[in-house]
Amino acid sequence: MRFHVLTLFPDMIENSMNTSITGRALEKGDISLNAVNIRDFTKEKHGHVDDYPYGGGAGMVMQAEPIYLAYKSIEEDIIKNTGKKPRVIYTTPTGKVFNQKMAKEFAMEEDLVFLCGHYEGVDERVLEMIVDDNVSIGDYVLTGGELPALVMMDAVSRLVDNVLHNSESAKDESFSNNMLEYPQYTRPYEFMGKTVPDVLLSGDHKKVDEWRYEQSLKRTRERRPDLLE
Ligand code: SAM
Repeated sequence: MRFHVLTLFPDMIENSMNTSITGRALEKGDISLNAVNIRDFTKEKHGHVDDYPYGGGAGMVMQAEPIYLAYKSIEEDIIKNTGKKPRVIYTTPTGKVFNQKMAKEFAMEEDLVFLCGHYEGVDERVLEMIVDDNVSIGDYVLTGGELPALVMMDAVSRLVDNVLHNSESAKDESFSNNMLEYPQYTRPYEFMGKTVPDVLLSGDHKKVDEWRYEQSLKRTRERRPDLLE
C-alpha cells in the first residue's frame, strides 16, 4: 500500500505515521508514505494557497490550482506503475462516514491519495476534477483534514498484509461481524478485589469461544444496537 497525502502540514502526517505500528510498517516497506506540500505548488509570490469565498461569508477557501498541480505531480508516476488513476479521497465533514467496511475496501487499492482541506474547505471545481470519495470521520468539524487522513491510514494499514503481527491480529475485532469485541483481561488474576471470569482460565476453548460470543452480543446490544439491525 502506497499512501500519498496532499497537505499543508506534511510534518504532521510524517511524524504521526512514523510512530508505533505504522512506523514499523514504513520501515519494513509494507506501506509507504509520500506527503506532498500543497504550498510548494502555489504561483502566488507570498505563498498563499487560499482566497476569499465568492458570494461572501466567513473564512477563506483553498484555491484549486495549487491542489491540482500537487495532485498532477504524483499522478503520472502512479499511472506509470499501475496503469490507472489512483483513488483520491477528500476528507470532509460533508462525506460518507468512514467505517471498517470502507477501510477494507481502501486496503485493496495499491495507491491511495488523501486530500486534506483547511480553512472553510476547498474550491469545488478541483474536487470535481480529481476526487473519487468524499469521506468524513464523524459528525463534528475539525480544523483540518490531516487527523482524518491519519485516522483512515491507520485503519487501512492494519489490514495490509504483514503490518500486524499474529498477536495483534485484526480478525476477531470490533465490527468484523457487525459486533463489538468481548471484554479482555490480562494478569494479574485479581486486581483490587476484582477477578477474571473463571471460564477464561478453564482451558476449554469451546467454552471460551461461547462466552466471548455471548459477551460480544450483550455489549453490542447495550452499546451499538444499530449494528445488529
Ligand atoms: N466549512 C466546512 C464544512 O462546514 O463542512 C468545514 C471545513 S473544516 C474547518 C476544514 C477542513 O477540515 C475540511 O476541508 C476537511 O478537510 C477537514 N475536516 C474537518 N472535519 C472533518 C471531518 N469530520 N471529517 C473529515 N474531514 C474533516
